Amino acid sequence: QEIDIADPVRTRAILERYGLNAKKSLGQNFLTRPQILKDIVAAADISEEDDVIEVGPGIGALTEQLARHAHHVLAFEIDENLLDVLDETLDPYKNVTIINADILKVNLPKVVAENLDGKHTLKVVANLPYYITTPILKGLLQSPLPLDQIVVMMQKEVADRLNAVPGTKPYGSLSVAVQLDMNVDIEFDVPKEAFMPRPKVDSAIVKLTHREPREVQPYSKDAFYKTVHGCFAHRRKTLWNNLMGIYGKEEDTKARLTAVLEKLDIKPGVRPERLTVDDFVRLTNELD
Ligand code: SAM
Repeated sequence: QEIDIADPVRTRAILERYGLNAKKSLGQNFLTRPQILKDIVAAADISEEDDVIEVGPGIGALTEQLARHAHHVLAFEIDENLLDVLDETLDPYKNVTIINADILKVNLPKVVAENLDGKHTLKVVANLPYYITTPILKGLLQSPLPLDQIVVMMQKEVADRLNAVPGTKPYGSLSVAVQLDMNVDIEFDVPKEAFMPRPKVDSAIVKLTHREPREVQPYSKDAFYKTVHGCFAHRRKTLWNNLMGIYGKEEDTKARLTAVLEKLDIKPGVRPERLTVDDFVRLTNELD
């Protein structure tokens, strides 16, 4: 068997042969540590039972490791210059489909229905393009697809935000939005030296799995995101001032907000980062 695509010597040879310069604008940082890729596949517990959606296969380093374990891999790559490369590097793997598309624009359920049999567990595994980590995550979390779990690499700093608890600096709207439905586990850190070219910051592998349903659910996800976003609009301001920002300062609005906060036993003078996910759910439902 040939050496792994992720092997640093092979990666460099592939990039040279195709005259490729990694595109910074597309977040192209290729992993060149086969062991880290194997650890990602292990963290996602990929087996023959699984179909995997990958975002940004690049030159195929992670795709290859996934293909060795999964039933099928469906990978979305925006850069058409990589298609010939992927054709060659992934030629030994017959269980891979590459789609040349922007993951933020593609109709994911449609492409999945066209390319996967619907009989396998669906997982997402990816080394994400960092400039669009948040929109990709939001898109996946709001997707109607039955995603069993999401195992993705992102900047360490963003991973810490996903995983943050109330009252800490990284805790914010992203933490709350993700933790509404998901358990967040940071599996391991990945140093910047593991990439070619090297990014400026270290990374981490994050695993998102579905948590048990909360006792109280928001009456609408959109309303929930709106409340959370609005409450964190100015982190240094009080919850009250942020609510004024969302709802205005009319006297009857103030009276209504005061009543809601009293009912929920939330002090108007707290900073938004003190509120738990459940607080935001209850706040959303009462504010309707
Ligand atoms: N999977 C490879 C690896 O681990 O070495 C490459 C990962 S690299 C961090 C991110 C990849 O995402 C690049 O190949 C880039 O071209 C691709 N990409 C960037 N924006 C994208 C988008 N909107 N849709 C799909 N792929 C995208």
